[in-house]
Amino acid sequence: MNVRRSNRAMIDHHCHAVVGRDLDPDEFEGMISESFAPAPLGTSHWDKPVGLAIRRWCAPVLDLPKFAEGGDYVARRLELGAAEVNRRFLKQSGITAYVVDTGNRPGLLCTYDELGAAADMPAFEVVRMEAVAEEVMRAGCDAKGYADAFEAAVEASLHDRVVGLKTIVAYRSTLRIDPTAPSRADIEAAASRWLADIEATGEVRIGDEVLERHILWFGADLARQKGLPIQFHIGLGDADVEMHACDPSHLTAYFRAVEPWGVPMTLLHCYPFHREAGMIAENFPNIYFDVGFVQNWAGPSYRNVMREALEMAPFTKQLFSTDAFGLSELFYLGAMRFKNSLDSVLDHWIELDECSPDYAEQIKTWVSGQNAERIYRLAPAAN
Ligand SMILES: [Zn+2]
Repeated sequence: MNVRRSNRAMIDHHCHAVVGRDLDPDEFEGMISESFAPAPLGTSHWDKPVGLAIRRWCAPVLDLPKFAEGGDYVARRLELGAAEVNRRFLKQSGITAYVVDTGNRPGLLCTYDELGAAADMPAFEVVRMEAVAEEVMRAGCDAKGYADAFEAAVEASLHDRVVGLKTIVAYRSTLRIDPTAPSRADIEAAASRWLADIEATGEVRIGDEVLERHILWFGADLARQKGLPIQFHIGLGDADVEMHACDPSHLTAYFRAVEPWGVPMTLLHCYPFHREAGMIAENFPNIYFDVGFVQNWAGPSYRNVMREALEMAPFTKQLFSTDAFGLSELFYLGAMRFKNSLDSVLDHWIELDECSPDYAEQIKTWVSGQNAERIYRLAPAAN
């Protein structure tokens, strides 16, 4: 895998693709909300840090004055067209490679290849194992054949641009689960419950804890064989996440059990459990974390989160991500806010004489890209 070298690699190790078509004002507003509902009557999703940051920082990229109103912003976006808007934000983000989770609403978003082409930078894929399980069920499978069919399908999905696996166990059964591997008989019984649920509801959505434990254990074993990392959704999320049960320390016994396998495991976003994640990354040699997504939603307060993320974790364990979904603005803003906040925290350390300028540069190089290059095996191209 080759990644073009800029001054400093900025590897967005967890993101989604963008919407390739134009968005009307309601659709745009829906994409700056994690809620599934429209804003309450008389209010707008624009009125929070992410909306304010788009008006402040993204409006000028579309040739508007800073703090342009939301309505004017979307009108200008439509005037330029989605392709031009996406090109501007992706190019100006400074991101040098994209590691894309393709398992969430693929019909709405462009492909990871199209994202890379719009950015003119390499893009890679991460396979979301829950999405594969659901495809296996949609394709038709009986309870007895489920485990083998799922395992074969995940393996078959590993083409040469796939650089990792992902699980959203946090969303589906929370992280408060039995940390052991389920038996084949347990998996068959759970698949049979799932089939009955599909029959009753007409909806194919994996959620059984036993099937999630299968994903965790099979995924770690496959990752070990193939030399891939596994990503874990942690902490905050949209309205179907039970946040209190998504503290990564619930997985401590599982982490301990698979530690000897040496599979790099990356804890995604982590907020508000980024301090727990940092400490877990200190304790386990194979565990990494990021404080992505948060920068876009916390706006100027993100530097507090970055300061806390740097409290205890090794500098060689933190990664950069935007978790951008749908809007190219979220790549641009996410990269800018991440960079500025890291600069600001480290400048403060230098001011206090706690860090040398050279070592601060080293930390930035690690966190912005070098740590991700190492664990996703994205070897920098020689230049
Ligand atoms: Zn995410």
